[in-house]
Formats: sequence, structure tokens, C-alpha cells
Amino acid sequence: MSHPATESVCPTDDPLESLAATLFRPMGSDGVYARTALYEDVVERLGAFISRERDPRAEILRFPPVMSRHQLEKSGYLKSFPNLLGCVCALHGSETAIRAAADSHEAGGDWTKSLAAADLVLSPAACYPVYPIAASRGRLPSGGLLFDVAADCFRREPSRSLDRLQSFRMREFVRIGTPQEIVAFREQWMTRAQGLASELALPGALEVANDPFFGKLGQIMAVSQRQHSLKFELLIPYYATAKPTACMSFNCHLEHFGEIWGIHDSAGQVAHTGCVAFGMDRLAVALFSNHGTDVSRWPASVRQALAF
Ligand code: AMP
Ligand code: ZN
Repeated sequence: MSHPATESVCPTDDPLESLAATLFRPMGSDGVYARTALYEDVVERLGAFISRERDPRAEILRFPPVMSRHQLEKSGYLKSFPNLLGCVCALHGSETAIRAAADSHEAGGDWTKSLAAADLVLSPAACYPVYPIAASRGRLPSGGLLFDVAADCFRREPSRSLDRLQSFRMREFVRIGTPQEIVAFREQWMTRAQGLASELALPGALEVANDPFFGKLGQIMAVSQRQHSLKFELLIPYYATAKPTACMSFNCHLEHFGEIWGIHDSAGQVAHTGCVAFGMDRLAVALFSNHGTDVSRWPASVRQALAF
């Protein structure tokens, strides 16, 4: 008999199963795990490793795991990924109404029927909140803006695979400026990221990619995104025969966010934006799966890069 989904961290035929037992503890839901000290130490070291690459001009912002529902709706998320979005819901109304809804659970009823959406969603990516913040400052300074942002992100894609979590950490460098500034930023990061992967002794390959846009219309959006090379990913296999996992992405949004939020560059043109995203959990799992769970035996260059 197989274990119920809520009891194991990953399926028994997964070569990463023993890794999961060392790095995570189950929390009763696929893709949502408690992280061990061993794992968190590596995530923190990775964070410091990435911080060393930060442009000194970048403004640092750390976002909570929730963001304004209105801002995400305005960003167009519901058009592209409605299936992945998690929305905060709560019991509203009078004390009597809330008590009755909560008590219905004790009586075997469904208390969740009384939930109503709050003004918050679970952030699906770290960079969404930064564009309205930039817009609120008026026209961009010459040279544009750079941000270093991070958030705990949520995507409703339950899976027992260690590389597809529902709750995961994302770190991003975001660039807002002229089209040329965005292109240069992304080019530079695609080169640097490959250098970072080799410092970490991870076999990374850069490939053009597309987001998992929802539905039939989504397929058209995905084709167009690929045709225009708007997204690249750094793919890293977790083990020799594994399908590689996207651990970083390099995104060009053109004028999408500039138009939505009314961001203009110093010449008055609609700003372009781009971001480079580091999947912190995917990178950490990539390190453990490639180098083992005994960090004292990781390659010397990797130990040095992570300041062990
Ligand atoms: P994206 O916005 O889809 O390009 O995501 C940015 C980065 O977040 C990806 O390159 C992954 O490293 C990471 N990521 C995305 N989805 C997941 C997930 N379900 N579980 C873990 N990491 C993820
Ligand atoms: Zn982003």
C-alpha cells in the first residue's frame, strides 16, 4: 500500500527520496515542507553568495508572502496563470456569523463555504510589488532603477517532486529603464549566471523558455514568448538521468509593467522592465542532489563560494 499523499515527502520511486528525508519534514501537504537546519544553512549561504553579485546601486526590498490582490489583478496575472494563484480568504461579518461558520466545522459541516476573499493574494513571484512602488516615485532617474527583491512565493501546483513546491523562496534582481538598459541587464546576467553555476559546480545550460500560460490562449502566448526570446532559463539536472530543472530565469517584460503602472523613463518614454529570478529552493536542492548531503565533502571550490 502506498503512503497517503500527506505522509511522505516524495514518491518512493523518486531517486531523490533519501535526499528529501534528510532535507525536509512533511507538513501534510505535497510541495509544502519543513526545512531542516542543514538545508536552511545552505539556502542562507546561497543568499549571501547571490548578494555578493548585487549591483551596488540596487535598492533592497524584502516582501512578505502576501501582496495586494488589486495590484496582482492589475498586473494581468489572472489572464496568464489563474490556475496557479492562491487568494487569501477569511471569515467576515458579525461575531454571530463568524461563530456559526466556525462551529459548523465541529458539527461536520464545511466552514470554508462561509469564506470570502480578502484584499490579499499569496505572492506568486517576488517582483510584482516592485513596479507600483517604482511608479509612485514619478519619472525614472537617468540610468533607470535596480532592485534586489525576495519573497516566499506560492503557486498552486501540488506535486510530490522535490523540484515543484507550492511554497518556495524567490530572489530577484529587477531592472527598470530603457529598452537598451533592459537588454544589457539581461544579457549580462545570462553570462554571469553560467559563471555562478560553474562556481557551484552545477551543470547548468541556458535555454530559451516559456511560462506555463493557462489554457488554449496560453499556448499562443507561450509560442509568442519563445519567438521573441523573452524568457531564458538556466536548467540544472538533479542527477545524471534527470530532466533538467529550471533554477534561474531571465525575463524581459518589454513595456508590460511600464504601461500598466505608468512608469516612464527620463526621456518620457514608457519604461521597459526585466528581471533575473533565482529559485532558492531549487538551487539548494540542486546542490544537495549533485554534491551529496555531507557538505564537508562538497568540492573545495563550492565550499569556498558558499563560505563554509
Ligand atoms: P518563474 O517566474 O517561473 O521564472 O520562476 C522563477 C524561478 O522560481 C524559477 O526559475 C524556479 O527556480 C523557481 N520556481 C518556480 N516555480 C517553482 C516551484 N513550483 N517550486 C520551486 N521553485 C520554483
Ligand atoms: Zn520577476
